[in-house]
Order: sequence, then C-alpha cells, then structure tokens
Amino acid sequence: MKYHTIDELLSNNQSWVSEKLALDAKYFDKLADGQKPPFLYIGCSDSRLPLTNFTRTEPGELFVHRNIANQVSLTDINFLAVLEYAIFHLQVKHIIVCGHYDCGGIKTALEGRSTGIIDSWVNPIRELYLHNQGEINAIPTREARLNRLAEINVLAQVKNLYQTSIIRKALHEQNAPTIHGWVLDIKTGLIKDLNVSTVQWQLPSCPLFAKPSLVTMPEIHPTDGVAGCCCEEATKSG
Ligand SMILES: [Zn+2]
Repeated sequence: MKYHTIDELLSNNQSWVSEKLALDAKYFDKLADGQKPPFLYIGCSDSRLPLTNFTRTEPGELFVHRNIANQVSLTDINFLAVLEYAIFHLQVKHIIVCGHYDCGGIKTALEGRSTGIIDSWVNPIRELYLHNQGEINAIPTREARLNRLAEINVLAQVKNLYQTSIIRKALHEQNAPTIHGWVLDIKTGLIKDLNVSTVQWQLPSCPLFAKPSLVTMPEIHPTDGVAGCCCEEATKSG
C-alpha cells in the first residue's frame, strides 16, 4: 500500500485541489452548482473497485451505492432510499449493477468462511448457488466457479431491481432508467457487460399501480324491486 496515514490523505487532497484548479479555475464552482449524474452505480464495497477510476468518470457523474457483494436487498432501507432518490429526484438514465471477480462476499457465501452478520448478509448468494449448483459444480476450477457465481449474482440483483416498488412505479410512469449488469475483472481491469436482457422482468402494467376499473352499478328505482334477487321471484309467485 502506498499510503498509511491520515495526514498523507489530507496532504493528497490539497495537492489534488491545486491540480484541478490549475486545469480549470471554476472546477469546484461547477461542482457546487449541484449534481445531475446520469448513472446510478450499485457496486461492491471492495476497496479495489472505485468505478470512477475504471471508467474515467469525474465527481458528479456517478451516484453510488456500495455494499458487500453488490446486493440489491429489498429490505435495505439505505439502498431503497438511494434508489428512490436516484430515479425520482436525480432522474438517472442508467443503473449499473457491477459485481467483480475475486469477490470476498462470493467466497464467503460459497465456502462458508464467515460467521456472524456477514454470513447473514451473503445468504441470498448461497441460495443462488444452491439454485445453480449443477452448472457451477460442473466448472473445473475454483476460480472459475467463483467467477461464474459472481456473474449469476449480478443477474439476480438486476432482477431484484425490477421487484422494487420504485422501479415498478418508474416503469408505470415510463421514466425507468435502463439497467445494466457488469462484472469487473480485477486481474485485467476490464469491465465485462453481461448484456442482461431485462424485458421479461419489466411489468409496466403491474397490478400494484394499475388504475382500478370502475364498476357501473345499475340504477335502482324503488318500484323495480331488486333485480335478480330470489325475493323477486318469491314475491311474483307468492
Ligand atoms: Zn466484492
């Protein structure tokens, strides 16, 4: 590691600011104007993967949510708040779920290395393995098995996005962002686009948001009796 002390980080900050200002004297004035990022990035907390570095993006271009093994958890209020803000306030055009090879969260899920809270957090990945163990167990090497599970995990998280009421509402309002599934290969630095087809998960007419159809009730006049009621027949015959 190159840096170990807090003072080094603060010193780096000052030199970085100086370099930015040398290139563009208004750089921070523009940043202070507010944010309108086109992308929401959902990634792993792993320190090796700041997507800004891998995509040459600048501050203000990626709205970010990261957690261990890039989970789209339907019960994580933190994540759901990020998603709602990204879509309905920032109006991002793209959501990127980006997993990575050599992911500690994937290893923990597959090999049961950890106990405690992390164990619970990665349990959905263990479920994914169980659902796909035929395919995964047939892969010859440990590394390739872990990498394939990392890809399956990304597909599952993209699918999970379509199960949130937030994305369904956006689909219903026809302003849903395009969702992408990526995996970053730490060994090469390259991003692999999994080209996830999301059509089957898009439910723009989800019953949750469909307008209820109005049932027209027939007008009832006091002299009509009750249409279709058994009492009517009973009255006529009696
Ligand atoms: Zn990871």
